[in-house]
Amino acid sequence: MALPDAHAQSVAGCLAALGSGPDGLSAAEAARRLGEHGPNRLAEVRGRGMAARFLVQFDNVLVYVLLGASVVTGAMGHWIDTGVILAVVLANAVIGFVQEGKAEAAMAAIRGLLAPRAAVLRDGRRVTVAGAHLVPGDIVLLEPGDRVPADLRVTVARGLFAQEAILTGESVPVEKSARAVAADALLGDRSCMLWSGTLVTQGTAHGVVVATGHATEVGRIGGLLAGVETLSTPLVAQMDHFARWLSFLILLASALLLAFGYFVGHHDFSEMFMAVVGVAVAAIPEGLPAVMTITLAIGVQAMARRNAIVRHLPAIEAIGSVSVICTDKTGTLTRNEMMVVAVETPEGSFEVAGEGYAPEGRVAPEGDLTRLARAAALCNDAAIGRKGGHWTVEGDPMEGALLAFAGKVAGRVEGARLDVVPFDSRHRFMAVLSEGPDGRLTHVKGAPERVLRMCSGIDAHDWHHRAEALARQGLRVLALAERSEPGARIEEATLEGSLTFLGLVGLIDPPRPEAVAAVSECRAAGIRVKMITGDHAGTAAAIARQIGLEHPDRVLTGAELDKLDDAELANLVTSVDVFARTSPEDKLRLVAALQARGLSVAMTGDGVNDAPALKRADAGIAMGRKGSEAAKEAADLVLADDNFATIAAAVREGRTVYDNLRKVISFELPTNAGEALTVVLALLAGLALPITAVQILWVNLITGITLGLALAFEPTEPGTMARAPRRRDAPILSGALVWHVVLVASLFLAAVFGIFAYAIDRGHSLALARTMAMNMLVVLEVFHLFFIRNIHGTSLTWTAVRGTPVVWAVVVAITAAQLAVTYLPPLQTILGTEAVPLRDGFLIVAIGAAFFALVEIEKQMRLGLNGRLGRSTPPVDQP
Ligand code: ATP
Repeated sequence: MALPDAHAQSVAGCLAALGSGPDGLSAAEAARRLGEHGPNRLAEVRGRGMAARFLVQFDNVLVYVLLGASVVTGAMGHWIDTGVILAVVLANAVIGFVQEGKAEAAMAAIRGLLAPRAAVLRDGRRVTVAGAHLVPGDIVLLEPGDRVPADLRVTVARGLFAQEAILTGESVPVEKSARAVAADALLGDRSCMLWSGTLVTQGTAHGVVVATGHATEVGRIGGLLAGVETLSTPLVAQMDHFARWLSFLILLASALLLAFGYFVGHHDFSEMFMAVVGVAVAAIPEGLPAVMTITLAIGVQAMARRNAIVRHLPAIEAIGSVSVICTDKTGTLTRNEMMVVAVETPEGSFEVAGEGYAPEGRVAPEGDLTRLARAAALCNDAAIGRKGGHWTVEGDPMEGALLAFAGKVAGRVEGARLDVVPFDSRHRFMAVLSEGPDGRLTHVKGAPERVLRMCSGIDAHDWHHRAEALARQGLRVLALAERSEPGARIEEATLEGSLTFLGLVGLIDPPRPEAVAAVSECRAAGIRVKMITGDHAGTAAAIARQIGLEHPDRVLTGAELDKLDDAELANLVTSVDVFARTSPEDKLRLVAALQARGLSVAMTGDGVNDAPALKRADAGIAMGRKGSEAAKEAADLVLADDNFATIAAAVREGRTVYDNLRKVISFELPTNAGEALTVVLALLAGLALPITAVQILWVNLITGITLGLALAFEPTEPGTMARAPRRRDAPILSGALVWHVVLVASLFLAAVFGIFAYAIDRGHSLALARTMAMNMLVVLEVFHLFFIRNIHGTSLTWTAVRGTPVVWAVVVAITAAQLAVTYLPPLQTILGTEAVPLRDGFLIVAIGAAFFALVEIEKQMRLGLNGRLGRSTPPVDQP
């Protein structure tokens, strides 16, 4: 049924050929066609295949070292060692493979949450359907910011422009209309077609679907396929880089050590070789990248559960470090559930009662509001209807409220639409020409200052005051006006000064209670909250007060903002929290000004023109419900529920993820350093190795990574939202971390050598002494894990000790594994272990507890000092 020459046919011809009409298809017919044509979707680029993903696990320095080592041990006839090394390599690859698979699945599921939707006419009614369910013949309604969901023949267009860069490479938007073009016109010249995947930048349109899925132009060229995103963030990339170079450093050092031991120390080569392999394995932080990736994936899922959908992974770090949040008002801080409560007309003031969007309720006192109600109903794109005994809106809630109001005053209003000037946040009004019982009338609604300018014969000054008075109560104010129109089109140029003023309506839009709580949470977390709205200054200030912003009464309007140069704006920007009547360009300037003050900015947006500000912000946040596709695509984060409280939740999750990444690093690095130092020291001092290479392999690759993995699941630490934001430029390898590595590595060293020396001293065999040393290491790791879980507070609370199910699961698993390798004869042969006497076992655990007490006391001393010196709350806005 696809229509290759739709551009050359008339609108009526296309509709007929597609078996459709101006009212669209019936639901039943659409379902039938969906079965016939299949979903409107392009096959996704397949990620790497399973086999490729598995093989990639072998592509790292450590694996090469181990494979090389297994060849050497094999050549020397040490078959058990060879077998253990190969088994560990395999186990490591399987763990990496499974983890990465989970992380990729998590990201794919998140992408599914962002599936596009489209507004269509079915059975003559406007409904929203999944973009995948569009079929040829559907009539699609488009607004600025919409991504065109299928190839469409335009049937109605008003001021329509589309950006077609993905097809034609032309980034300047091109004008579109419903007029047919020559049959041989090139793709870029078919101005009556809208191509799937392109962007509506201006105007509104209806279009009939002519092709879906792979039959579309973009489907045919195989473009637009979302690439597979790599699972990385700046921190993870930084660590990857660090780990890679560290590995080379370690290899070089190990080679030198081998040469030294063989030529200077005159050690036996095969023994020396195994020891050096042990050093390399111990020192290379091989578990780090895998565990960090999993930490990110878990963070992404946690955010999604809280309705914050991460589009770009780096955003997960950025959102955790923001120091200022710039948010919209309508629908984000307020509920976007509107109701007309006050009306002011030249005849007097009226109060309107009622409930939600039900067109029932009293208007008092009595009066004739029919002309106002007619304007409210006809200058309107929304629809209200009853769903399950409940009145709901399809479209803009404010317009729904106007329909409900009109219903209360005048019942049904008749009028056939002839022309429309769509609402645009730049000109802030909307006009509709319709034909009704009283002839042709143009109705205008919009921001009072804009509409009053178009009206004649009134005291504009007085009406401004009355509008202000309504706004001060926190009401959203609209002015309504009309004029009779001779022609069938609205002559926009002649609107100024020609309208008859009908009145003002005031709408309530109550603040979201959870937003009030979230704002105070953000303020406690050292994050400033600023409101940037298109609404009136008075309304904005009133809502800011109700929401609890810091400086609600100082309002800067877009007009005032335009008069400031960048330096003046940067000076003012930190002391003003409310920006009203702003344009999208103002948003961009505000982001830049805040960033110039060294702040890390989160900015929300919904319209197509907000995209530049969202891109510029450190964390761009788009509204999932009322936001345009263009805004969502420019954003790093999408709020599924449009709610400010979700931003606060995302900040909390972002901070948690960053903390957990830091915990993983703080856990793995000292463990590696401690193990490596143990072997190096023994070698240099010419002592017997307290732990063999094969045992190190076991401790490092199996127990270390498993324990580290528990940190990926760590919940938010208490007090996370009471800390000041972290500085974006703070290095990850901070002095504190280096100190932690040194301290913990030294303690590990002392404990392992200590227990080894004690065992030898008691007359235990070398194998038993080594078994005890290995168990010592694992016990230290477990205690270290419990310490690391609370880097910002104490580990000595019941909650901290109780831990989480994941922590205890890994501890139980590791303990079982340790008991097995220590006491089961077959495993004893492989790892060279001997059964540890019970008394010595207890001693090992007691040393672990002493280690825990030492590091915990050290932490408390440090936290106490930092607190007293006031270093825990760094000033954030100094560049
Ligand atoms: P926020 O940025 O907080 O979401 P907003 O949604 O109020 O603000 P805009 O949508 O740009 O911002 O609206 C700005 C002003 O334009 C409104 O205060 C109102 O006066 C007017 N307005 C909004 N929607 C319409 C509409 N559909 N028809 C006519 N006027 C409108």
